[in-house]
Amino acid sequence: MRGDARYGGMHPLGDVITLDDARARIEAAAAPVAGEERVAVSDAAGRVLAHDVTAPFDVPGFDRAAMDGYAVRVADLEGASPTSPRLLTLAGDARPGALPDVRVEPGTCVAIATGAPIPEGADAVVMVERTGREGNRIALADAPHRGQHISPRGHDIQADRRVLRAGALLTPARVGVLATLGLTSIEVRRRTLVVLMSSGDELLAPGETPAPGRIYDSNSVALEAVCRAHGAATRRLPAVPDTVEGWHAALDAAGDADLVITSGASSAGERDLLPDVVAARGEVIVHGIAVKPGKPTLFGRLGTQLLMGMPGNPTSCLSNAYVLLVPLLRRLAGLPPYRPATREVTLTHVVTSPINRLQFHQVRVEGDRAEPVFKGSGDITSLSEADGYIEVPMGVERVEAGARVVVTLY
Ligand code: AMP
Ligand code: MG
Repeated sequence: MRGDARYGGMHPLGDVITLDDARARIEAAAAPVAGEERVAVSDAAGRVLAHDVTAPFDVPGFDRAAMDGYAVRVADLEGASPTSPRLLTLAGDARPGALPDVRVEPGTCVAIATGAPIPEGADAVVMVERTGREGNRIALADAPHRGQHISPRGHDIQADRRVLRAGALLTPARVGVLATLGLTSIEVRRRTLVVLMSSGDELLAPGETPAPGRIYDSNSVALEAVCRAHGAATRRLPAVPDTVEGWHAALDAAGDADLVITSGASSAGERDLLPDVVAARGEVIVHGIAVKPGKPTLFGRLGTQLLMGMPGNPTSCLSNAYVLLVPLLRRLAGLPPYRPATREVTLTHVVTSPINRLQFHQVRVEGDRAEPVFKGSGDITSLSEADGYIEVPMGVERVEAGARVVVTLY
């Protein structure tokens, strides 16, 4: 360890690496978590399918009407048109939910509702708008082609075909497919278990009485929201005191977490004990990233468990949550990469940036304009008042007012 664990003084952050390098190292260290569980289809939205889904039957399971109208025989209506409609005798009707008990014989038709099975003998449906009725005589002004307005059996899904692939994100439409197949439960990838802990002797837990010099812990709550939004199951532990023993006890308590997320104690101050503790228990893979805000970020491994050490400053913490943690969470969960929306707008005020860091600068977007709202790394309103951020690359020190910029929206 570098110096005395508790009073060892400052230990400057080692070599910082680029964000791309950090991302590559994190990706290389993280594989989707193994394991699956069965959940109700009604609870499956947002989950990741564990296995391919093959259709046990055709959908629709019978030839069905795609329009309200009349089931007819094409041969009866050759040459029919608005100026020379054909008359057919109404032989009965077909409704959704039961097989029709009537046949369409030559010279007849059957009234049919959308979704009803096509009666035997019929080979087309004429939509009701193209017909007129006088008693049981129906005038039809349409010469349909064979199969018109009929969804044939298996048109949507064919029996024994794969309809959903393992690894698919269960969107509302895919949950709809599962329900269409009559399934009530489904195997999905298990959720990543994330254990979160903030650190710092100054932190108050939610609900604790305010005290001089103390602040409420916001990071673990905000980070938990990020984790849940990207498929993880979460458990929050009490804040870790700024002692080596406190850190060991907290990491012991993380138990079987796939990913431990800490905040604070990741920088170069004398209370920033996390890097040494991680090095003692496992491996530090990233420490120090050339971004602003968010330089004092750490990523490591404790046996099979991953650890993401976020900066304590709330804006640094959350900014890196978007750029580093979200991709990691999605990779662990087997979710497809996140593709946030972007907008090209005009910057209202100049933004300055350190030349040797990639800066994420928070902005509020109104119409075609983006107004910088970043105050400081310690100010959570830098993010709560922002709609997104612009990126100022390394090597660029100023983005002038009036410049066109691309905003990544939160
Ligand atoms: P640290 O990274 O531990 O040096 O903390 C940097 C700054 O962020 C300090 O001002 C801390 O008080 C503050 N901070 C650390 N953790 C939290 C937290 N969980 N919630 C709010 N502020 C925090
Ligand atoms: Mg601290």
